Amino acid sequence: MSTLNNKVILVTGASRGIGASVAKELAKGGAKLIVNYAGGKAEAEKTVEEIKAAGGDAIALQADVSKSADVSRLFDEAIAHYGRIDVLVNNAGIMITKLLKDTTDEEFTQQFDVNVRGTFNTLREAATKLADKGTIINFSSSTTRLMLPGYGTYVATKGAVEQMTRVFAKEMGARGITVNAVLPGPVNTELFTQGKSAELISRLASLNAFNRIGEPDDIAKVVVFLAGDEAKWISGQTIGINGAMA
Ligand code: NDP
Repeated sequence: MSTLNNKVILVTGASRGIGASVAKELAKGGAKLIVNYAGGKAEAEKTVEEIKAAGGDAIALQADVSKSADVSRLFDEAIAHYGRIDVLVNNAGIMITKLLKDTTDEEFTQQFDVNVRGTFNTLREAATKLADKGTIINFSSSTTRLMLPGYGTYVATKGAVEQMTRVFAKEMGARGITVNAVLPGPVNTELFTQGKSAELISRLASLNAFNRIGEPDDIAKVVVFLAGDEAKWISGQTIGINGAMA
């Protein structure tokens, strides 16, 4: 039997992209899913319907992770519904790629609010509300290992996520909670493909060993492993999922 069976798992930003794929893969393993979304209600409900149609259990809960009151309510509503949360997957994130000199104050703040403050907000709630022996999986990006022009502020936000991961892993060990970050390479979602030419996508694909862009499933399968009991000796780590890109 899967070690995910009956675990209650909160995935932030699970209305589409990698988060939706992660939620569906975890549900296949028998977990009960909280599908969080910010604005994509219809897409989040579609993710829930797909999980239920496959025999799983899930609910959709709205919360903007950049707002601490929303995140506190999200944890309380999830616990009221399922009784506890065992695993937190901090997937919600945004990316704005621009040369640093062209990045506006608003674009800087927006990315830090969602990617850094959003992760901070959920970690702070998890510190007291996640179940003992729980698991936290944060989302960074393989771009923190590259020096790609245009990614200055985005990698700054993900670098902050990686540092919080390392420290929080030490802070949460006493309760048996593991904390890791995954670092996907380019993945075929709106966040990555939007605004990029086919030529640029193929050039970025050529930076890994397999000459293809990752699919959401490639990431989801690693998250499933990290969420299970077999991964309990892995903590405080930043794990690349990028086909040898970096
Ligand atoms: P998408 O843009 O496809 O999906 C983003 C998800 O995050 C949506 O479900 C969206 O929900 C949600 N979201 C955005 N802002 C908020 C918010 N303030 N509160 C709650 N949810 C929010 O992105 P990906 O699936 O590609 O990315 C997922 C994660 O993976 C991100 O952290 C990203 O940085 C990281 N990543 C992605 C890579 C890629 O190439 N795709 C590579 C490396 C890392 P809604 O629609 O409801 O707003």
